[in-house]
Amino acid sequence: MQIFISNPRGWEVKMPGKDVVSSFARKAKKTGILAVAHMPYLPNLASADKETHGKSVSSLVKNIEACNALGIRYLITHMGSHLGMGKEIGMKNILDAMEEVSGSIGRVCILLENQAGHRNSIGAMVEDLRHIYEKSSLGESHLGFCLDTCHLFAAGYDISRADVLEGIDKTLGLGKVHALHLNDAMFPLGSGRDRHSNIGKGEIGIEGFRTLLNYDGISSKVLILETPEGEWRKGELEALRKAAGR
Ligand code: ZN
Ligand code: MN
Ligand code: MN
Repeated sequence: MQIFISNPRGWEVKMPGKDVVSSFARKAKKTGILAVAHMPYLPNLASADKETHGKSVSSLVKNIEACNALGIRYLITHMGSHLGMGKEIGMKNILDAMEEVSGSIGRVCILLENQAGHRNSIGAMVEDLRHIYEKSSLGESHLGFCLDTCHLFAAGYDISRADVLEGIDKTLGLGKVHALHLNDAMFPLGSGRDRHSNIGKGEIGIEGFRTLLNYDGISSKVLILETPEGEWRKGELEALRKAAGR
């Protein structure tokens, strides 16, 4: 299950109180559900604007602290937008952010999520994710990746092909990919558009997910659906389990 610590479209991050922490732990234990957290959407770690960057880093720190309090290991974040300043500068700002939060990291592992490739966004290419990982001092227990299938497909990676998966594996190391967002894509390969479809109803299709889920170790990772809600929801889980051979 993926949660937001606070309003995904706001800046404020409220620390969970003692009562929340204990009921969260109790429910997690009772249900056996593993929760991961996603950063809110307003922070931009790639921003060159001092104020925005500072606010973004402080949001990341607060989210990390909340995750530590709740016993949540994985915190997923987008890499942000360079807002026209160029990728080099944006990547440098992301790296600075990683260094700035390192003292607060605790037991949390930040997962960088790949992006669809919309204008100025960073992280559509898996090489960019790897670059941040390589240059950061956080190391493998505190930094990894979350792959979004819709974003991969929109960025031109045809994940229904085993050779494409092998290429991604070679660049990232799938061992460092701890979670996947399983979303079908509304638009064709390489569209650059971040529009999720229900599994089997989009351009990737259930055959694509079958290839993916049967690729080395993928089906044992944290798998999250971010697809449109509705009738087909139950069918999606069933179709995915079947495709994974469960
Ligand atoms: Zn995301
Ligand atoms: Mn996603
Ligand atoms: Mn998306």
